[in-house]
Amino acid sequence: MADTPSIVVVGSVNLDIVATAARLPVAGETVTGATLSYFPGGKGANQALAARRLGGRVSLVARVGDDANAEAALALLRAGGVDLSACETCASVATGVGLIAVGPDGENQIVVAPGANRELRPEMISLPPADAMICQLEIPMDTLSHAVDTFDGFICLNLAPAMALPADLPGRAGLIVVNETEAGFYNDLLHELDGMVAKTLGAEGAELSRSGDRIAAARPPSVDVVDTTGAGDTFSAALTLAIVEGQELQQALEFACAAGAAATMKAGAQPSLPFRNEVEAIQGSNCG
Ligand code: ADP
Repeated sequence: MADTPSIVVVGSVNLDIVATAARLPVAGETVTGATLSYFPGGKGANQALAARRLGGRVSLVARVGDDANAEAALALLRAGGVDLSACETCASVATGVGLIAVGPDGENQIVVAPGANRELRPEMISLPPADAMICQLEIPMDTLSHAVDTFDGFICLNLAPAMALPADLPGRAGLIVVNETEAGFYNDLLHELDGMVAKTLGAEGAELSRSGDRIAAARPPSVDVVDTTGAGDTFSAALTLAIVEGQELQQALEFACAAGAAATMKAGAQPSLPFRNEVEAIQGSNCG
């Protein structure tokens, strides 16, 4: 590898507020006795921290609100050395929040209040030069289009959460990442692209294709799974990083699968994002 790859992530920052209860309420009901936890989240923030922990030089273009949740949401990014100089505070808006109720067996109900993520407007974006840019769909669509139009390097578009897209958007990415559910939603659209499409398949690993033809497939190492939150975000970051490092596609996909698997070994999204040596350790120890 030559220089450390530089990656700019344009995306969301949220604070996830999680209440774990004996059961989930039905509409109109109150369930008490829950335990409360706070977790930094948002797909943009997760992917930025993942890319950083895996060895990239990473900056995050995002917006947070003028409130106490902002610092909690950014704490691990700051501690991890993600460049937050393009992550600005908006006055009179709340930081994005995910309100999550978790019941027995991990079933959940989620309400997201995007808050400041909605204030990331196209005219505010000035992208730092970088080898690659990673984006997702938790920011305004016109901002995403503008970022994709103005960026010069390799673009990874994680088409999550699934939603209708401007027709010309996916074709401008060098790499699209979707999970099985999203692949079902976008379906034919993914077969028509000239860029690469990575489809993640949970414990089964992932496939990489171009113009509908499979060009690589990989399985993750077998791991003791604790919590799969953040696995997909880690996969997107790892695959982008490996590609801009110049790894062969098969090797890059194996690295991304192992990184996704490593992210399942601890609880929470950001606390569980793996460091490079942890990924290499599980790659070396078994081969799924
Ligand atoms: P998402 O979180 O976006 O739904 P996936 O669940 O497909 O994405 O996971 C992304 C990647 O993380 C997979 O390709 C795989 O490499 C890894 N992964 C996810 N779940 C598991 C698991 N149970 N065991 C091992 N690896 C996993």
